Amino acid sequence: MDISSQEIEAIVKQVLDRVRPAVPAVSATPAVSAYQKTSSPAVSAGIRGEDGVFERVEDAVEAAYQAQRVWATRYKVEDRKRIVEAIRVCARAHVEEWCRKIVEETRMGRYEDKVEKHLATINKTPGPECLTTEALSGDHGLMLEEYAPFGVICSITPTTNPTETIINNTISMISGGNTVVFNVHPRAKRVSAECLQALNRAIVDAGGPANLITMTREPSMENIDKMAANPKIRLMAGTGGMGMVNALLRTGKKCIGAGAGNPPVIVDETADVELAAKKIYEGASFDNNILCFAEKEAFVVEDNYDGFLYNIRKAGAYLLTPQQTESLARICIQQKNGEYTANKDYVGQDVAVILKQIGVAVPADCRLAVCEVDKDHPFVLAEQMMPILPIVKCGSFEEAEEAALAAEHGNRHTSSIFSKDVYHMTHFARLIETTIYVKNSCTKAGLGIGGEGFCTMTIAGPTGEGITCAKSFCRRRRCMLADGGLRII
Ligand code: NAD
Repeated sequence: MDISSQEIEAIVKQVLDRVRPAVPAVSATPAVSAYQKTSSPAVSAGIRGEDGVFERVEDAVEAAYQAQRVWATRYKVEDRKRIVEAIRVCARAHVEEWCRKIVEETRMGRYEDKVEKHLATINKTPGPECLTTEALSGDHGLMLEEYAPFGVICSITPTTNPTETIINNTISMISGGNTVVFNVHPRAKRVSAECLQALNRAIVDAGGPANLITMTREPSMENIDKMAANPKIRLMAGTGGMGMVNALLRTGKKCIGAGAGNPPVIVDETADVELAAKKIYEGASFDNNILCFAEKEAFVVEDNYDGFLYNIRKAGAYLLTPQQTESLARICIQQKNGEYTANKDYVGQDVAVILKQIGVAVPADCRLAVCEVDKDHPFVLAEQMMPILPIVKCGSFEEAEEAALAAEHGNRHTSSIFSKDVYHMTHFARLIETTIYVKNSCTKAGLGIGGEGFCTMTIAGPTGEGITCAKSFCRRRRCMLADGGLRII
């Protein structure tokens, strides 16, 4: 078949038009891009979402897939930085609204603590600046290793930190060049959708592509299964309980799992008990103890026991009698398949609401109840996520260590110690092996909330990424320029 040069030119033009996305090369100025004015590839294919919220999971994945191709190839790291900054500005402007709505929708936690948690997340989640390049120059050339995107990530979020996790995961994941399809917790789906839509609008206003983050209006387990089976999803990231993490691990897909904790704190015989009591009161009552990393049980060495009990009451805690403790345990803790679990009706409730169930009234400013129990008590073994702190008297530091290790259930999530003995601090750290280990402060200090270091809402203990950031959601790729390379020596 003979084809004229004009025909060849027309065919080439047609092909180029098809493969060239409707996006201009991105400039450093936050101008409205042509991408916004024209419809996105996903939308032009008949897939419609409302600022990232879709009815069908297939459409949410497709839109995020199309956005990722553009995000990774047409936007520079500088653009990522600018868009992450726009996300921070947008989230800051909505903090109070979202925190109020979370309390209304989930009926858990404390508004003022949620504000503090959001601000830590917004201000202290690292952006693309943490993606460092490794370079090696030698006689045989130049080697570069960089953090490259996975592609589209499915992110599953918990009810305890719904919008915090969306903000944190969005910053971390898109900083790495990925896009995200969220499957949010059904108990927080409305506020999660509002947050996601606001962030998407901010991204587009800053010149970014539409649908960098998407979700389905109705989250479901079925959607998670569909995403696990969809080849366009390259990574599953889940933040929540161990049931969910184990389900992700069984999918056979690369996954990052951030699971349950039950953080023990040891107060040894050398500790400053006043400081310990004050910090443990603060940490264990923060957001009514729904945080996976909050102190859940205290093991106090007997030489310091009375002093600790005196000081935690002085800090504001209500001390339950043995009878009250047992009445409360009966309603707050359930036993399923030989394991103690929290009664969800009381998770994250104010201490006044919980204690009212057993006819106890506490002052309005009381944030925490404490009880004296032995190391095998259900309040110690269950991850109860309520402002009730069981305190166990231990004959020695070694006894406290063993009890703490058992209570943590091998989650290797978070633990802490109040001590002035360096040997004790080091020994417990080696024994307990938790991702977060805090000495002489609240455990939240380990996430940069009142401590040094960056913040995350996805602490990936089971799969080992630890305190996640943009790096955690990237692939390491190597580029090699052979012999001669760029050497100047
Ligand atoms: P959850 O496990 O009930 O729900 C978390 C998410 O997983 C939700 O989106 C839910 O719909 C989904 N899910 C639940 N079971 C699933 C299954 N079998 N298969 C697939 N998906 C499933 O947890 P929650 O009540 O929302 O949050 C509290 C739990 O999460 C606590 O155990 C807490 O310690 C943990 N948590 C861990 C971290 C961390 O960073 N490690 C952070 C927050 C919360």
